[in-house]
Amino acid sequence: MANEECLFCHIAAMEVPADIVFEDDVVIAFRDITPKAPVHILLIPRVHITSAASLNDANGPMLGRLFAVAAQLARDEGIAKSGFRLTTNSGPGAGQSVPHLHFHMMGGRQMGWPPG
Ligand code: 5GP
Ligand code: ZN
Repeated sequence: MANEECLFCHIAAMEVPADIVFEDDVVIAFRDITPKAPVHILLIPRVHITSAASLNDANGPMLGRLFAVAAQLARDEGIAKSGFRLTTNSGPGAGQSVPHLHFHMMGGRQMGWPPG
Protein backbone atom coordinates (compact mmCIF):
# COMPACT_ATOMS: atom_id res chain seq x y z
CA MET A 1 0.00 0.00 0.00
CA ALA A 2 1.53 3.32 -1.04
CA ASN A 3 1.81 6.20 1.38
CA GLU A 4 0.82 9.57 -0.17
CA GLU A 5 3.34 11.44 1.97
CA CYS A 6 6.25 9.15 1.16
CA LEU A 7 9.01 10.21 -1.25
CA PHE A 8 10.11 6.64 -2.00
CA CYS A 9 6.51 5.52 -2.68
CA HIS A 10 6.38 8.34 -5.25
CA ILE A 11 9.68 7.16 -6.78
CA ALA A 12 8.32 3.58 -6.89
CA ALA A 13 5.19 4.88 -8.67
CA MET A 14 7.44 6.87 -11.08
CA GLU A 15 5.78 10.09 -9.96
CA VAL A 16 9.19 11.43 -8.87
CA PRO A 17 12.12 10.86 -11.23
CA ALA A 18 15.05 8.70 -10.19
CA ASP A 19 17.92 6.88 -11.87
CA ILE A 20 16.34 3.43 -11.60
CA VAL A 21 18.77 0.54 -12.17
CA PHE A 22 16.37 -2.35 -11.46
CA GLU A 23 12.68 -2.91 -10.88
CA ASP A 24 10.25 -5.80 -10.67
CA ASP A 25 6.93 -6.29 -8.92
CA VAL A 26 8.58 -6.50 -5.48
CA VAL A 27 11.77 -4.41 -5.46
CA ILE A 28 13.06 -1.18 -6.99
CA ALA A 29 16.68 -0.03 -6.98
CA PHE A 30 17.86 3.47 -7.88
CA ARG A 31 20.98 5.57 -7.47
CA ASP A 32 21.22 7.74 -4.38
CA ILE A 33 20.81 11.43 -5.25
CA THR A 34 23.82 12.36 -3.09
CA PRO A 35 26.13 9.34 -3.42
CA LYS A 36 28.51 8.67 -0.52
CA ALA A 37 30.59 6.18 -2.53
CA PRO A 38 31.41 5.64 -6.25
CA VAL A 39 28.52 3.11 -6.28
CA HIS A 40 25.61 4.09 -4.03
CA ILE A 41 22.31 2.38 -4.83
CA LEU A 42 19.16 2.33 -2.71
CA LEU A 43 17.05 -0.85 -2.73
CA ILE A 44 13.46 -0.57 -1.54
CA PRO A 45 10.36 -2.75 -1.43
CA ARG A 46 7.45 -1.48 -3.51
CA VAL A 47 5.23 -1.87 -0.48
CA HIS A 48 5.45 0.91 2.10
CA ILE A 49 7.25 -0.37 5.21
CA THR A 50 8.50 2.39 7.50
CA SER A 51 11.76 0.82 8.62
CA ALA A 52 13.50 -2.40 9.62
CA ALA A 53 11.78 -2.03 13.00
CA SER A 54 8.45 -2.93 11.32
CA LEU A 55 9.62 -6.14 9.62
CA ASN A 56 8.15 -9.55 10.42
CA ASP A 57 8.28 -13.12 9.10
CA ALA A 58 5.77 -12.33 6.35
CA ASN A 59 8.37 -10.02 4.78
CA GLY A 60 10.78 -12.92 4.23
CA PRO A 61 10.14 -13.44 0.50
CA MET A 62 10.45 -9.70 -0.18
CA LEU A 63 13.74 -9.52 1.74
CA GLY A 64 15.06 -12.59 -0.06
CA ARG A 65 14.28 -10.99 -3.37
CA LEU A 66 15.82 -7.66 -2.32
CA PHE A 67 19.08 -9.29 -1.24
CA ALA A 68 19.25 -11.38 -4.42
CA VAL A 69 18.78 -8.19 -6.47
CA ALA A 70 21.53 -6.51 -4.42
CA ALA A 71 23.93 -9.37 -5.16
CA GLN A 72 23.13 -9.19 -8.88
CA LEU A 73 23.60 -5.41 -8.93
CA ALA A 74 26.91 -5.75 -7.09
CA ARG A 75 28.09 -8.06 -9.88
CA ASP A 76 26.72 -5.71 -12.56
CA GLU A 77 28.41 -2.69 -10.96
CA GLY A 78 31.74 -4.51 -10.59
CA ILE A 79 31.91 -4.34 -6.79
CA ALA A 80 31.01 -7.94 -5.89
CA LYS A 81 34.65 -9.01 -5.55
CA SER A 82 36.19 -5.75 -4.29
CA GLY A 83 33.47 -5.51 -1.61
CA PHE A 84 30.45 -3.47 -0.71
CA ARG A 85 28.38 -2.37 2.28
CA LEU A 86 24.67 -3.21 2.45
CA THR A 87 23.06 -1.36 5.30
CA THR A 88 19.80 0.10 6.56
CA ASN A 89 19.27 2.95 9.00
CA SER A 90 16.24 2.42 11.25
CA GLY A 91 14.90 5.35 13.24
CA PRO A 92 16.27 8.77 14.20
CA GLY A 93 19.15 7.43 16.30
CA ALA A 94 20.53 5.68 13.22
CA GLY A 95 20.03 8.74 11.02
CA GLN A 96 17.10 7.45 8.94
CA SER A 97 15.88 10.44 6.93
CA VAL A 98 13.31 8.79 4.61
CA PRO A 99 10.71 6.68 6.46
CA HIS A 100 10.37 3.95 3.80
CA LEU A 101 12.56 0.87 4.33
CA HIS A 102 15.66 1.09 2.16
CA PHE A 103 19.03 -0.62 1.98
CA HIS A 104 22.08 1.38 0.96
CA MET A 105 24.45 -0.56 -1.27
CA MET A 106 27.79 1.27 -1.29
CA GLY A 107 31.03 0.21 -2.89
CA GLY A 108 33.93 1.25 -5.06
CA ARG A 109 35.99 2.61 -2.17
CA GLN A 110 37.40 1.33 1.12
CA MET A 111 34.72 1.43 3.85
CA GLY A 112 35.50 2.39 7.43
CA TRP A 113 34.30 0.43 10.43
CA PRO A 114 32.41 1.06 12.60
CA PRO A 115 30.08 3.52 10.83
CA GLY A 116 29.68 6.88 12.58
P1 5GP B 1 18.66 7.47 5.11
O1 5GP B 1 19.31 8.75 5.59
O2 5GP B 1 17.16 7.48 5.39
O3 5GP B 1 19.32 6.22 5.59
O4 5GP B 1 18.86 7.43 3.55
C1 5GP B 1 18.07 8.19 2.68
C2 5GP B 1 18.85 8.36 1.42
O5 5GP B 1 17.96 8.81 0.42
C3 5GP B 1 19.98 9.40 1.51
O6 5GP B 1 21.22 8.77 1.22
C4 5GP B 1 19.60 10.45 0.48
O7 5GP B 1 20.71 10.96 -0.24
C5 5GP B 1 18.64 9.70 -0.43
N1 5GP B 1 17.62 10.54 -1.07
C6 5GP B 1 16.87 11.50 -0.46
N2 5GP B 1 16.02 12.05 -1.34
C7 5GP B 1 16.24 11.43 -2.53
C8 5GP B 1 15.67 11.56 -3.83
O8 5GP B 1 14.77 12.36 -4.08
N3 5GP B 1 16.14 10.74 -4.81
C9 5GP B 1 17.15 9.84 -4.57
N4 5GP B 1 17.55 9.10 -5.61
N5 5GP B 1 17.70 9.69 -3.35
C10 5GP B 1 17.26 10.46 -2.35
ZN1 ZN C 1 6.72 4.66 1.13
